[in-house]
Amino acid sequence: LEPKEEFSHKTLAMDVMRPRRGDPPLSVLTRDGMTVEDVEGLIADTTYSGFPVVVSHESQRLMGFVLRRDLIISIENARKRQDGVVSSSRIFFAEYTPPQPASSPAPLKLRGIMDLSPFTVTDHTAMDIVVDIFRKLGLRQCLVTHNGRLLGIITKKDILKHMAQIANRDPDSILFN
Ligand code: ADP
Repeated sequence: LEPKEEFSHKTLAMDVMRPRRGDPPLSVLTRDGMTVEDVEGLIADTTYSGFPVVVSHESQRLMGFVLRRDLIISIENARKRQDGVVSSSRIFFAEYTPPQPASSPAPLKLRGIMDLSPFTVTDHTAMDIVVDIFRKLGLRQCLVTHNGRLLGIITKKDILKHMAQIANRDPDSILFN
C-alpha cells in the first residue's frame, strides 16, 4: 500500500481534528451569552491559543474566531479603562447589542477582535487538501464543521503530529517533507 495514497484518500479532517472521542468538548465562546467572569474562567482553565465563537451552544453555528491573547488584552483594558465593566458585565460578539436594563452593568463589545471568517473545512475534507491550504495560506488553525455545525479544530501542530505518526509508520514516506 502506498503511504501517499493512504494519506490522500483515506485520512480525513475528522481523523485529525480535536476533540478526539473521549476528550472534553471544544472550548467555545457564545455570541452574547457570557459574562466577563465566564470568559476569564475559560481563559484560566485552558491554554488554547484561540476560541471559536458560536451563536449558541445548542446551534453550534460558527460566527468567528478569537485569539486568546486578544481576549486577554481586551478584557484587561476594559476593566481598567472602560467605565462600568465588571465581572458580571455581559460580553457581546454580535453586531447588535440589545439595550441593557438600567440595573445591569455596562456590556463589553468585543466584535472588533473577532475574525469574522475563520477558515473552515468539513469533517469529510481529505487531509491532503487541508495540508495544502495550511501551507498556501499560512494558517495556524482551521475549524471543522458538519452540516453548518462546528465540530472541531485542527492546528498546525495537530497536522505536524499526524504527519510524524504517518512517517513513523512508514519511514519511506516523503510526501510531507
Ligand atoms: P497548538 O496545537 O499549537 O499547541 P493550541 O494550544 O491552540 O495550539 O491547541 C492545543 C490542542 O488543543 C490542539 O490539539 C488543538 O487542536 C486543541 N484546541 C485548540 N483550540 C481548542 C479549543 N478552543 N477547544 C478545544 N481544543 C482546542
